[in-house]
Amino acid sequence: MAALEPIGPEFARRLLVWYRRLKRDLPWRGKTDPYAVWVSEIMLQQTTVGAVIPYFVKWMALFPDIGTLSRAPLKKILKAWQGLGYYQRARNLHAAAATIVARHGGRLPDDAETLRALPGFGAYTTAAVLSIAFGRRAPLVDANVRRVLMRFCGVRGEATAANDRTWLRWLAPLLPARRPGDFNQALMELGALVCRPRNPRCLRCPFESDCAAFAAGEQEIIPAPKTRSTERITAVVGVNIAAGRVLIQRRPDKGLLGGLWEFPGGKVKPGETLTAALVREMEEELGVRPVRPRPLITVDHSYTRYRVTLHAFACELEAEPELDPRTRRRVRLSALRSYPFPSGSAKIVERLLADARKSVKLISPAAAGRSS
Ligand code: SF4
Repeated sequence: MAALEPIGPEFARRLLVWYRRLKRDLPWRGKTDPYAVWVSEIMLQQTTVGAVIPYFVKWMALFPDIGTLSRAPLKKILKAWQGLGYYQRARNLHAAAATIVARHGGRLPDDAETLRALPGFGAYTTAAVLSIAFGRRAPLVDANVRRVLMRFCGVRGEATAANDRTWLRWLAPLLPARRPGDFNQALMELGALVCRPRNPRCLRCPFESDCAAFAAGEQEIIPAPKTRSTERITAVVGVNIAAGRVLIQRRPDKGLLGGLWEFPGGKVKPGETLTAALVREMEEELGVRPVRPRPLITVDHSYTRYRVTLHAFACELEAEPELDPRTRRRVRLSALRSYPFPSGSAKIVERLLADARKSVKLISPAAAGRSS
């Protein structure tokens, strides 16, 4: 790693002058309510500010404090999170709220050790909450900070966490005693608005005159592009409606998209036709064979490192599958929106509701006569 060339207190001074003039006006900015700071920091991980704003506003209206969040059913929490991705974050918020109520009198602890013991509190979240909500001089490194520092110091290579300890050691003495949270937010804001991943606005940067990458003309190649590959998945699901009620099932609590609801189905195997995969998957999951599949909608969506093409078919079933209120239900079309679905399935729900509004008959006469 290249030698660091800190410019000392001047770094913090220039950064804070820039931040006070040009920071964005965001719904969580200026808040010192530890709960609001915590929620915003969790939402902002892996997600853009623009995407987070409406979710944050709605969340704070639904769950205005830790006690309310701890008492809310998981279904309501996952529904409020629907579309934001990385659902483990929502489950951790819920679990941590319950622990805070049970063990800490409903107040977010203000020491690092106790915070780190709560679900979802890693090094970054702990430092963010401590510095922004409690005014503690806790440095942090996220993707934006890492990029700014790599460029400022001219450190080539991919942006990984390998050098984070060094960055934290370097940042620690720079944090001001007054409002250290502003310093942390300013560095992240600079990365988001000026020292952007592509097309950094160096001529508007407070560090232009001291930046190693800018001096070497390397700001576009530091950090090196990531070599992470995405996996393509083709999946198929069956939408079965009987007497106006749609068959849906709940994913296991643990694992990807845990606790969310979906339509029965699964991955298409190599060489398999869509309808063959539909029959195989639905028989495996429901123990019942689907019949008369008709293409309904195809949607593309991405999550984590997967790009999924999801084919939905309307279909009937040879018999009624076993239902379980916890894991497999028939629900009215009008109630579908109250269930949390992954983004791809949510698009299918919207299509069903649009079709229902247009009175498109998805229900065959045979299925319509069957009782639910
Ligand atoms: S001068 Fe350019 S590359 Fe250097 S920190 Fe500022 S925006 Fe980033």
